[in-house]
Amino acid sequence: MVDFTKIPITELFGSNCFSNAVMYKRLPKNIYKAIVAVQNEEQELTLEVAEVVAAAMRDWAISKGASHYTHWFHPLTGLTAEKHDAFIAPTSDGQIIMEFSGKELIKGEPDASSFPSGGLRATFEARGYTAWDVTSPAFLKQDATGTTLCIPTAFISYYGQALDKKVPLLKSIEALNKQAIRVLRALGNETAKRVIPTVGPEQEYFLIDREYYNKRPDLILTGRTVFGSMPAKGQELEDHYFGAIKERVADFMRELNTELWKVGIAAKTQHNEVAPNQFEIAPVFATTTIAVDANQLVMETLKNVARRKGMEALLHEKPFAGVNGSGKHNNWSLATDDGTNLFEPGANPESNARFLLFATAVVEAIDRYALLIRASAATAANDHRLGANEAPPAIVSIFFGGPLTELFEDIATGKSLHHTDSNGTIGLGVTSLPSLPKDVSDRNRTSPFAFTGNKFEFRMVGSSQSIATPNTYLNTAVAQVLSEFADKLEHAQDKNQAIQAIIKESYSAHRRVVFNGNGYTDEWVKEAEIRGLPNVRNAVDALAVLVQEETIKLFETHKVLTREESESRYHIYLEKYARQVNIEAGVTVDLAQRYIFPAATRYAKNLAKSASALSGLGVKNTAQVEQAKHIAELTAELFKKTEELSQVLTKAQDIENVIERAKAYCTTVCPAMNAVRSQGDALEKLVAKDLWPLPGYDELLFKL
Ligand code: ADP
Ligand code: MG
Repeated sequence: MVDFTKIPITELFGSNCFSNAVMYKRLPKNIYKAIVAVQNEEQELTLEVAEVVAAAMRDWAISKGASHYTHWFHPLTGLTAEKHDAFIAPTSDGQIIMEFSGKELIKGEPDASSFPSGGLRATFEARGYTAWDVTSPAFLKQDATGTTLCIPTAFISYYGQALDKKVPLLKSIEALNKQAIRVLRALGNETAKRVIPTVGPEQEYFLIDREYYNKRPDLILTGRTVFGSMPAKGQELEDHYFGAIKERVADFMRELNTELWKVGIAAKTQHNEVAPNQFEIAPVFATTTIAVDANQLVMETLKNVARRKGMEALLHEKPFAGVNGSGKHNNWSLATDDGTNLFEPGANPESNARFLLFATAVVEAIDRYALLIRASAATAANDHRLGANEAPPAIVSIFFGGPLTELFEDIATGKSLHHTDSNGTIGLGVTSLPSLPKDVSDRNRTSPFAFTGNKFEFRMVGSSQSIATPNTYLNTAVAQVLSEFADKLEHAQDKNQAIQAIIKESYSAHRRVVFNGNGYTDEWVKEAEIRGLPNVRNAVDALAVLVQEETIKLFETHKVLTREESESRYHIYLEKYARQVNIEAGVTVDLAQRYIFPAATRYAKNLAKSASALSGLGVKNTAQVEQAKHIAELTAELFKKTEELSQVLTKAQDIENVIERAKAYCTTVCPAMNAVRSQGDALEKLVAKDLWPLPGYDELLFKL
């Protein structure tokens, strides 16, 4: 464990990260300038610059003990991938030198044939290319293989199609920048050069003792328990959230923070979450690509450190039925390169107008593209949260809180606002905005998309997901609305009038998506239906929007995804859904047949035997007889339901068409799996603990 009195955190932080600060120190000034210009999309990367950076990167990495480098990328699996190469190059006299060229920095050629491509890459053309993403810093990974220099990259096919989650993300950032700058210029801002989406993801996870984990094939193979009955205590005492952190967990968190700080991730907040043994970690926000890469590293580090500490970190959206699942709150905002947060309500008429205009754009984007926003969080695992018996609901709505909503309503109805600015400033006649509740307790925690004072918190995202896709969709949706706003503003004679008209028109048309009440209630489900808001309860239906003409056009317009790329993603995500459920169903059948059925049978037999022995002695034990019968009945029912599951599973597996196959998994396999589970869970409550073959929720959730 690092002793912070010997190595101060300020020194430790970023020591394994080739950040701009390190580049500033290690690169000639002109090269450093060039790299920053490339990061800001002001100029193209040249091989000359890459050569110098590569040499500096190599020297830095080697000085830290690195033997290998890897292009680190985000294939469509949602995970990260890496293929390691040693720096070594043999010399003619049988020795080696440590080499790393500019070419090796900017381009890699991993064999791409085993990554999902959704038909984008012809099988004979297995080559894929990785290309250096200059917007996210290289870092060192230290593990049993030694120290490896990891270079964040984008992953594309031989024909230039995006095979990963990074390329579309970068394009969406660019699209959003372009349209936001247009709006700012139209508002008279001449100083901002770029608008950058910023992201701070809060990551939820569970920790469990590894000994129990190792005895749960369902956790090992699927990340969630497919059986498990609730113990006498769940989360009802509300004693875990923000509670004192247990010693063992504190020790884990300390090491986790240390590891993250080393690679330059500003892990800041940590606390106990709502469910027992559930926790959260949140870093300070960063630009989107850095935040996306960092979050992948956070997930990986969570897993690694937990293992080192004899625990397992569960990132699954719903590892345990009956207690809260885990999400990832994607805090999102827009900042200018000169330091203005566009969602920070200001103190003067000018910034107020800007704030209201950009906030209106988000309202419109969330309403118009609600299906897309929903689809960005659509996975088999997240179905257990969204639209199930847990929040946030699958209905996309946006929270603003009372005062702001009133202000929007006033503008929409033309009330109370007069157009008074005569001195040429841009304004709405609103000199100060109502102060917004920044206090945590005042916030609405049930909204899937909540305004929290100076940013939006998108809460539908699943805990195990890459945040690249949610941010890509969000950026693109907002870019589209901003482009329409810019069209109007650029042609307006009277900007003040135009701003007011845009907000009025847009908000009036999309106010239905604003909801400040409790999003977890049945009333909201009914109310949302009356408002005409979509409520898509499963991932398979949700993903369909990806191939709707409007979506394809949206992504094409902003050059984020081509038609082909959109279609391929639809197929990949459906395939992933089907495979995930297929594994879960397989594990369910296996546990039912080889674990639960034998255990229950043994116990029923024990009871019957004991009853008959007692009866031979002239003692009548009806309790044992009744219990044996009851267990035998439940076991028979378990057997029957398992047979039924096996049948629908085989049928689903045989379906050729991926859309139909995913649907079959969703509508037939999932319910059949639940039916088996009910029987298994009922048996768990009755069968003797010493005969039950799986650690129970009491151990998994409460022992650490
Ligand atoms: P809460 O749990 O109340 O939502 P936290 O402090 O746990 O609050 O998390 C807030 C998150 O929002 C942090 O990750 C923080 O970095 C992030 N955040 C704050 N400001 C911004 C911003 N301008 N853009 C993006 N994310 C932000
Ligand atoms: Mg939060």
